[in-house]
Amino acid sequence: MDIVPKHWYNIVPDLPEPLPPMLKPDGTPVKPSELSSLFPKELVEQEFSLTKFIDIPHELRELYVELGRPTPLLRALRLEKYLDTPARIYYKYEGVLPTGSHKVNTAVAQAYFNKLDGVARLTTETGAGQWGSALALAGALFGLKIRVYMVKASYEQKPYRRVLMEIYGAEVVPSPSKYTNSGRAVLSERPDHPGSLGIAISEAIEDAVTSPSTKYSLGSVLNHVLMHQTVIGLEAVKQLELIGEELPDYVVGCVGGGSNFAGLAYPFYYECLVKGCKRDLRMIAVEPKAVPSMTRGIYAYDHGDTARLTPLIKMFTVGHKYVPAPIHAGGLRYHGLAPTLAVLVKNKVVEPRAYHQVEVFRAAQLFAQTEGVVPAPESAHAVKAVVDIALRARETGERPLIVFNMSGHGLLDLAGYQEFLSGGLKDYEPGDIDFSYLPKINY
Ligand SMILES: *Cc1c(COP(=O)(O)O)cnc(C)c1O
Repeated sequence: MDIVPKHWYNIVPDLPEPLPPMLKPDGTPVKPSELSSLFPKELVEQEFSLTKFIDIPHELRELYVELGRPTPLLRALRLEKYLDTPARIYYKYEGVLPTGSHKVNTAVAQAYFNKLDGVARLTTETGAGQWGSALALAGALFGLKIRVYMVKASYEQKPYRRVLMEIYGAEVVPSPSKYTNSGRAVLSERPDHPGSLGIAISEAIEDAVTSPSTKYSLGSVLNHVLMHQTVIGLEAVKQLELIGEELPDYVVGCVGGGSNFAGLAYPFYYECLVKGCKRDLRMIAVEPKAVPSMTRGIYAYDHGDTARLTPLIKMFTVGHKYVPAPIHAGGLRYHGLAPTLAVLVKNKVVEPRAYHQVEVFRAAQLFAQTEGVVPAPESAHAVKAVVDIALRARETGERPLIVFNMSGHGLLDLAGYQEFLSGGLKDYEPGDIDFSYLPKINY
């Protein structure tokens, strides 16, 4: 219980340069009051806050404990031995939370602040279903109605996360749906449209702003979401101290929108780069080569969704019209990046790396065979980077301390593993990326 932090860490005031504001399409900054139809008061305040540490309400902190926090920080000794590496490898295991991933950390916080504000119903989108199931659980715990717009292709192909959401009492709707104008417009052009995350976001936002006492909830990218996830890193800092370990040389995480990476890495950024420490911390952010926003995207203002309903956010992006290849790491198939993380990548404080999915699954299988945990296909990207760092250490003879985020387990992603094991898994090389349609805004 003592390990679970009493506050979240907000990196915004500690960034190497000011965070570019969210903009409206006319190029003027979004005012906090303009987000109040989407989010409750407290979350809007958090989104714009310049306070470094924000208190976690007592009731919420107790709920974190009831749901399994602190999550374990484990040493991957058998993997170290197998790789014959002098590196020390630790991982923060978020898969022990009830829905199997870190997304619960922000889902319960968002539900809590919505409940406090008198909201009765939340809408959201989900791709593979990790975020939808976390919010469905949070809705059950706080007595909120939840409607999840689930990308139709996943709704049909991945029934188990849909079942999980329905167990918690959420209503799951395949998107595009008949419930919204954006959904109906897509269906009238193409009745068998498989859907996309961008369309599902548009539907969830439209539903929220047109329904009574309903608000919208997002599982990544926004400042308040990343801040809620810092419970991961704040715990890890204390856990390393408790076992007498030093601060790490490397922190590693996979990146979709950036929330699990930020959750682990930002508190170490605070310890090493803000407060100052003796170590030369390297922060490694890992993405799929099929959706390479950090390694091949540009740093520009872009929308968060396909229908361009969200404000413009300055981020690394492959463009909101980008159609990601059907890789199994559904949580990493997002075109953009959280704005705070984008500032750190631009300033070369965070080092991006990209991998193909076959090499990622190979590393994940090795991890399962040595450590027991079957990584989520998303988290497996971090595993692959860690294996590479550990193998390099064998050559250089250094003894780096590595901490990575195992953001979730892969037990509901066995179809991906099955394809990998049967030799049928493919890699996808993105061709030329079109940036020409991005709004020409310099702020
Ligand atoms: C959603 C998800 C991700 C990617 O999202 P981030 O916001 O970048 O963390 C990574 N891992 C798992 C297990 C997820 O469910």
